[in-house]
Amino acid sequence: MWTCPKCGRELSRQDQDHYCGKAPETIDEYIAAQDEVVQPRLIEVREILRAAIPDAEERISWAMPTYWKGRNIIHFAASKKHMGLYPGSEATTAFADELKDFDVSKGTIRLPWNKELPTELIQRIARWCYEEYTD
Ligand SMILES: [Zn+2]
Repeated sequence: MWTCPKCGRELSRQDQDHYCGKAPETIDEYIAAQDEVVQPRLIEVREILRAAIPDAEERISWAMPTYWKGRNIIHFAASKKHMGLYPGSEATTAFADELKDFDVSKGTIRLPWNKELPTELIQRIARWCYEEYTD
């Protein structure tokens, strides 16, 4: 691991190319700012969410990639050991049975980088959030 002295980000290789500047303002910038090892997974979850809720707008909110329609519907974010999916606690309660094999707490689903994404489940959760949280 190497910590960039300018932005403080932890990267896998010394002097690794990365987005080294202001806070990301778009999902493209956010993904580009992450370790390149995890970028394909972030692109994958973005595609899953876009397909599930194509009417939602992509933006950055709470410093995370966010799907928005009148209010925040669902976020995702990269952490060191996992990708966080943030559908809200109403959603994690509604899907509790299907999420029992995942690391879930208070509206957060932690998806380990080394496991395949549960595409179909993520899409159903995103659609559920869209239906529940928008007018
Ligand atoms: Zn940097």
